[in-house]
Amino acid sequence: MSSHEPSSWLGGAWGAVFAACLGAVYIGLALGGQGDMVLLGVTALAGLLLVAAERVRPRERGWREADGQWWQDLGHFVASFGVGSFTGAWLAGAAMPAPLVTIWPSAWPMAVQAVLGLVVAEFFGYWQHRVLHTVPWLWPLHALHHSTSRMTFFKATRIHALDIGSFTFVSVAPLLALGASAEVVLWVTAFGNFAAQTQHTNIALPTPPWLNAVVGTPSVHWLHHSLDLREGNSNFGMNLMLFDHLFGTYIPPSPEPPAAFGIQPDFVPRGFLGQLSLPLESIRRLVRREP
Ligand SMILES: [Zn+2]
Ligand SMILES: [Zn+2]
Repeated sequence: MSSHEPSSWLGGAWGAVFAACLGAVYIGLALGGQGDMVLLGVTALAGLLLVAAERVRPRERGWREADGQWWQDLGHFVASFGVGSFTGAWLAGAAMPAPLVTIWPSAWPMAVQAVLGLVVAEFFGYWQHRVLHTVPWLWPLHALHHSTSRMTFFKATRIHALDIGSFTFVSVAPLLALGASAEVVLWVTAFGNFAAQTQHTNIALPTPPWLNAVVGTPSVHWLHHSLDLREGNSNFGMNLMLFDHLFGTYIPPSPEPPAAFGIQPDFVPRGFLGQLSLPLESIRRLVRREP
């Protein structure tokens, strides 16, 4: 069996890595760790291991070649993803200091609540993502994330603060509005963190087709990054593929990455400040009604 073939019905190498990450969070919580600190620690540790793995055994050697965007990507890791996601989560808490309706099934087992939380968050996350792809004047906000010719760890966080901030807000606020607990939000966030990290890392993490149809595996997300729009306008789900199936945007991926990643035309500036100012391009398109 080649290293790129799904290795088992259990979920392949990706399933094992993902389960280990979630298992580490579970153990951290069971040992009495504070939720946010446990999640931050496990996410950071998983990130370090993934970065090390992509240095030692890259999936594609070509993806390691410099693309002139290293410092920009590092800047977005801190100033765009970091600031945007924390601000989005904070705003969700500020907007929903108390549940709008108390219908959350808090008595259900936490694992079932977490799955329900994923479904609720994914519904809004799916539409935030799809709207950024389909409304012309909003596209510049998301184009930064797609303006890359390879998948590496730091491409996950090459994302505008308004993009990740709005995504985080629309994912978390509905959970708080329905009365979900902080622990449910924590598990949904953990799932999202590990999905995003593994989806964009340059290592071989094969998955069986059945798993690609259920959750946002690396192969599923690679197809979404395809330069070919017949492939790229698909698989908008970040964590679950449920709404791609329901709304007709799911395309089953092959184990091999698409022929090329990126966008055409790639109007995203090469400089960091130009990338931060992409909302100005959105405003320009809105005012001039340009596609
Ligand atoms: Zn996208
Ligand atoms: Zn991506």
